[in-house]
Amino acid sequence: MGVSEPLLTADGVTKLYPGGRVGCRDVSFNLYPGEVLGIVGESGSGKSTLLNCLSAKMEPTAGSISFNTRTSGLTDIFQLSEPERRLLMRTDWGIVHQNPRDGLRMGVSAGGNVGERLMAIGARHYGNIRQEALDWLTRVEIAEDRIDDRPRDFSGGMQQRLQIARILVSNPRLVFMDEPTGGLDVSVQARLLDLLRGLVRSLGLAAVVVTHDLAVVRLLADRLMVMKDGEVVESGLTDQVLDDPHHPYTQLLVSAVLQV
Ligand code: ADP
Ligand code: MG
Repeated sequence: MGVSEPLLTADGVTKLYPGGRVGCRDVSFNLYPGEVLGIVGESGSGKSTLLNCLSAKMEPTAGSISFNTRTSGLTDIFQLSEPERRLLMRTDWGIVHQNPRDGLRMGVSAGGNVGERLMAIGARHYGNIRQEALDWLTRVEIAEDRIDDRPRDFSGGMQQRLQIARILVSNPRLVFMDEPTGGLDVSVQARLLDLLRGLVRSLGLAAVVVTHDLAVVRLLADRLMVMKDGEVVESGLTDQVLDDPHHPYTQLLVSAVLQV
């Protein structure tokens, strides 16, 4: 893959729900390796719809999405076979769900949650798997002696950090995050955000981060797209958009007049 080739491209992505309700409309962008794209907008602006299309959970009504696969280069993700798509989800892609319950197996040990993903990419040696799980627990600031505890006994912040460890252990090239700090106490949010920023930077991860919280994109995102009623109303470098918003809606968002 050439350095200048995008990792993910969206071209005119449109999702209409039954009854004609607009989920998102005509969204286009390129995401390059190592780049973090933030998507912001108030509740109902289409952020999750777009993310679900990008991560192949939902097929758009119109438009196309391509991912730069290791074997075939830029490939329309909906032209892949179901097994190929599932393989992508286990290897090159990681999805951080807002609710850790959607991304973890709550009744399986913390180490098992991380190890399971390693086994999905072919790891077989028990000792290595456990050691790698331990390493990742440490990286996400979970004490080693919690490795055999189940996530349902963890705090919300710990569950979210475990979810991140489970994803990153497979060395994904692209991570999707939907409101990664949503539903957490403010102090816990700050710690998680710090951790995420460190990991994204040190691993050179590419990510698409959806949030209504401008503090999240301020810290994580290189570029920003602002959505309103399913459409992108403004996009650019994060600092430029937040410090000098041009669209009146972005100006409202930034001035925190809008309750999101
Ligand atoms: P956000 O994540 O920004 O809050 P969503 O993508 O969830 O926005 O929603 C965008 C629009 O699509 C809203 O008008 C919402 O009501 C609608 N919508 C979302 N999911 C569905 C669905 N499963 N069926 C019908 N309409 C939906
Ligand atoms: Mg949403």
